[in-house]
Amino acid sequence: GEALAVSARVAPLGSRLVLLLVEDLTEARRIEAVRRDFVANVSHELKTPVGALSLLSEAVMDASDDPEAVVRFAGRMQIEATRLTNLVQELIDLSRVQNDDPLEDSEPVSVDELVAEAIDRSRHTASTKQITMASGGSADLFVWGSRGQLAAALGNLVENAVNYSPARTRVGVAARRVAAPGGDLIEIAVTDQGLGIPEKDRERIFERFYRVDPARSRATGGTGLGLAIVKHVAASHGGEVTVWSTEGQGSTFTLRLPEAGSARDRRTPASLTP
Ligand code: ADP
Repeated sequence: GEALAVSARVAPLGSRLVLLLVEDLTEARRIEAVRRDFVANVSHELKTPVGALSLLSEAVMDASDDPEAVVRFAGRMQIEATRLTNLVQELIDLSRVQNDDPLEDSEPVSVDELVAEAIDRSRHTASTKQITMASGGSADLFVWGSRGQLAAALGNLVENAVNYSPARTRVGVAARRVAAPGGDLIEIAVTDQGLGIPEKDRERIFERFYRVDPARSRATGGTGLGLAIVKHVAASHGGEVTVWSTEGQGSTFTLRLPEAGSARDRRTPASLTP
């Protein structure tokens, strides 16, 4: 209705303009729908742990004469509190990387350090599952960008590789430089021997809150926001993230980022000012 009314008003201006305006309105509606879905999803995701915490605190009160039960309930409260903390943290991370402001604090970032940090972050989970982690090729490579955002992105990919893999498998992180028309890129590939991702879900896993198996995601403390963060970080750095996967055999997520290669790139802003 609205779109038609507008098109009738501007019709004399020419059909190309009308088409553009109608497309704009459709796009505006789509964005509005996505925003509404997001708010609904966030509310739902917040309600779940808060509801559990409220029930568990009631259970603690009822079990005051059974110390073992109190300890058990307190343990579960801790899990729900962690879930809530993770969700809030990832929402903050996502809102930071989603705004299209130019990157703050950009600098050459050592790929070696990024990889080591990402592996370190998942070391505990990996060792409880006897998953071997290996890395290679990252020595002397530098990417250009925000250290914090890049660490969050790679950390998420390695965390997923570990979470969605069965015990006694291997997770590998391999980095290399590849030539590209606009300048060299650094490619960081995270490979697992895990569940893999069905073809029909492969595009959608980068959407906020989209999960192939919601129950499994929640069981591993997943928020459904990790890959959305990775995608935004890649885009804001002028790079991309892609996935290759065979169901039941494993997945490879590849992050491609502009190299901070030249001597000029490596100089700190301070040394550029006289
Ligand atoms: P989550 O917090 O659920 O892990 P993500 O945005 O990081 O959220 O990932 C979205 C979904 O993509 C996951 O729920 C999972 O179904 C799927 N996924 C991500 N990484 C992998 C992987 N390495 N192997 C299999 N499935 C994966």
